[in-house]
Amino acid sequence: MSLAVSKQSNLFYQSGSRRPLLDKASGIYLWDISGKRYLDGSSGAMVSNIGHSNPNVLAAMQRQMQRATFGYRLHVENEPAEQLASAIAQRMPPKLDRVFFVSGGSEAVESSIKLARQYAIASGQAQRFKIISRFPSYHGSTLGALALTGMSLMSAPFAPMLCDMPKIAAPTTYLDTDNLSEQQRGLRYARLLREEILRQGPETVLAFIMEPVGGASTGALVAPDSYYQEIRRICDEFGVLLIADEVMSGLGRTGRWLAMEHWQVCADIVALSKGFGAGYMPLGAMVARRDLVEAVLGNGGFVHGHTYAGNPLACAAGLAVLEEIERLNLLQAAQQQGARLRAELDGLLHRYPFVGHVRGKGLLLAFELVAERATMEPLPAALNAHTRLVDIAFEKGLIIYSRRTRGGRLGDHFMVCPPLIISDPQIDELMEMLHASLDQFSH
Ligand code: PMP
Repeated sequence: MSLAVSKQSNLFYQSGSRRPLLDKASGIYLWDISGKRYLDGSSGAMVSNIGHSNPNVLAAMQRQMQRATFGYRLHVENEPAEQLASAIAQRMPPKLDRVFFVSGGSEAVESSIKLARQYAIASGQAQRFKIISRFPSYHGSTLGALALTGMSLMSAPFAPMLCDMPKIAAPTTYLDTDNLSEQQRGLRYARLLREEILRQGPETVLAFIMEPVGGASTGALVAPDSYYQEIRRICDEFGVLLIADEVMSGLGRTGRWLAMEHWQVCADIVALSKGFGAGYMPLGAMVARRDLVEAVLGNGGFVHGHTYAGNPLACAAGLAVLEEIERLNLLQAAQQQGARLRAELDGLLHRYPFVGHVRGKGLLLAFELVAERATMEPLPAALNAHTRLVDIAFEKGLIIYSRRTRGGRLGDHFMVCPPLIISDPQIDELMEMLHASLDQFSH
């Protein structure tokens, strides 16, 4: 292997396997220190939406670095945070205009949980504390977010500490064999929420959280249109808050600022991250309905905070990222290039019998490998398809992101989510490497 791997390290990685050392990154490519180039077909973990080393973002960061990189929020406010909050609020649905900055996705989810809980207390509904989520789902690695995460792989080692919040099945309608239409199936999955609220006791249920378009947990799972509005209706019926975890799907990846806009549904609280800092700085945000925030502030304040929340350098980077998304017309690009890449991925279904399903929205796309398409039977776990195909592609210079969701009905899925700046010839290059990888995988 010619991979430039550091032999000795004090770094503590999640698993034993080592990857090459990164040298530089530009546009949709990364280079390791041996000079090998990789096409970043998953934008890291669906992060680098505007591509790497964008000169305007780097210049904005440099300007801010020369002014101030840090000011603790209890001592001083800062302009980039003010400007970014106003810029993000302008791009959200009108009801969502209160912004709380954090440094990542898990923190954005934690903040959302804590705001919801404090709102319940402030509004005389202190008995509401349960948050219903879905299985499979991923909401983050901190313990609160993990309690909502429906991936036993992630939470099982910590049970029964905090991981006991109720979960309903995610709408995996493509696996269903009943005679219902897609829209009927969407309603049936949404009504699982109603049943669960009734089972738990509506007066105890605080919120429902979901990824509008699934991420790592389900591989870009999209529900039928009927699902989203029915979920909103059920939440309203019982006074349950709707939290949209748009950490991955938000800020342009699906072709809209928020994925929920595709269905004209507005959540009460939205968690954002990934494409916000876009790999330039750790940055996330919770965006919430004004009246929720005002009720909490009016009842003694929001008991929550992180040291780096709203730090000026991260906010200056975030502001420049938003400007680049607009200057480069990346919402439209996500739709156009997403449709182009989607058509190419759909082509895999004709070429490889073991590609079982292709799905997603905009440039949040994935395909799933199966043993047999007719039954959607997953490949045997022992085959380790999710790591094998990723390793083959990596050798060829293509980075894709994979997961196998154990314990559920889903098998090995692969996220193909390049930066939104990807050009037509670059999509061809990506597909060439993907075909070569699948050919090698099938032998
Ligand atoms: N929510 C979703 C939907 C995510 O995809 C992720 C990250 N994969 C998180 C939360 C957690 O974000 P972070 O890793 O930045 O804490």
